[in-house]
Amino acid sequence: MNKQKGILSEVETAQLVQAIQEAELRTSGEIRVHIEQIQKKVSMDRAVEVFYALGMDKTINRNGVLLYVCMNTHSFIIIGDEGINKQVPGDYWNTIKDEVISFFKEGKIKDGLVRGVELVGQKLVELYPSTGENKDELPNEITSHEDLW
Ligand code: CA
Repeated sequence: MNKQKGILSEVETAQLVQAIQEAELRTSGEIRVHIEQIQKKVSMDRAVEVFYALGMDKTINRNGVLLYVCMNTHSFIIIGDEGINKQVPGDYWNTIKDEVISFFKEGKIKDGLVRGVELVGQKLVELYPSTGENKDELPNEITSHEDLW
């Protein structure tokens, strides 16, 4: 279950999954968190690669949002799918990113990600409120490098 190999404890992982579940309760949007220890690729290229590898472009409303973390490159990137990106200002994800990174700088990886999930969730609720059936289109599980290939 805990695949982040020392980055997050099992309890922290469970708390983060819980945050994703709660954030998705009131929106049709989908949030995923991917954490990896080592990566040599350019961070943005890798984050985009992960986004597609996780099938995050497959939601009906194109409203998936990925929070990507790489420890060795100190990267934190938020990627929204084209549906939601049309509706937020170009620098919108950076405002959330700055707040998350302020937690990371204190070594609070889990707290930062939980906050990031909450903030992304608030925007998703605003833009894509849940109407009736709210299918969980993408798993809430936290993924890491080993989950992809
Ligand atoms: Ca989900």
